[in-house]
Amino acid sequence: MALDLTRHLRTEESARKFLERHCWPEGHPVCPRCGLGKAYILAEGRVRCAGCRYTFHALSGRFAGLAGLTPRQWLRLLTLFAADETAHAMAAALTLAYNTAYKAATVVRLSILAASLDGLEILKSPLGAELGSAARTMRPNGPDEPLAAIPVFGILERGGMVFVDYLPTLAPQDLLHFNRNFSLPLSRLGAIVYSDRYLRYDALVACGSELLNRRLVEVAGRAPAVDPRQTGFWPYARERLIRFHGVTARKFPLYLKELEFRYNHRDQDILPILLANIASLVPDLN
Ligand SMILES: [Zn+2]
Repeated sequence: MALDLTRHLRTEESARKFLERHCWPEGHPVCPRCGLGKAYILAEGRVRCAGCRYTFHALSGRFAGLAGLTPRQWLRLLTLFAADETAHAMAAALTLAYNTAYKAATVVRLSILAASLDGLEILKSPLGAELGSAARTMRPNGPDEPLAAIPVFGILERGGMVFVDYLPTLAPQDLLHFNRNFSLPLSRLGAIVYSDRYLRYDALVACGSELLNRRLVEVAGRAPAVDPRQTGFWPYARERLIRFHGVTARKFPLYLKELEFRYNHRDQDILPILLANIASLVPDLN
């Protein structure tokens, strides 16, 4: 049965208590700076650490503290995110500015990325910095600024689970080289280019490389192995990537990791996981 938040949405106070329980599952405040579980209660949900004297509240240092939403707005936004609604729909339902809703959705995606297998590695990489991670303060950049380097991802599906691996040693130029000199079949899906099997991967994929898009050659009579598939991750992702039409190079890595998460939890209610993700501490990347 899906988690029903109706009861917690009644007031801002009930929403705050509910979110607080996710941030402090031990039942008492834990300092996000030094980790001590002893604090003095101040007014308006604020507490002061008995160890390092840091003044904080439940959302301090956590993903949920990055978007400027109230606890009630967070619960409503996560419900819509779980239902795969767009930032436009979130903004309309919550009467928020589009940019505020988009930023909050980006924070949810960053929290999904951080919880994924190679998430910390990505956040610590130059790509992570471009996606908005900078030590413990995430700064989601403007959605249309071009990326300095287009990342390549490898898609590997085994036993109904997909792994979308960031491959920092590969660049779009390499895909082009494999395509032109070693006949690696490539196909396009809008600005996305994806390949036939490569080493252990079902496909390599990159989005927004002009060079790759312009110069790739069709390999006569051969298409990427994922093309004819009717089930599995690729058809699942393809349908959604078409629906998001106009996915930009900058948005693509976070969307792709979101699709990995949604696919691997496709038979589950993801709302409790999203709650746990935004309630987690933003990792210290120093
Ligand atoms: Zn402390």
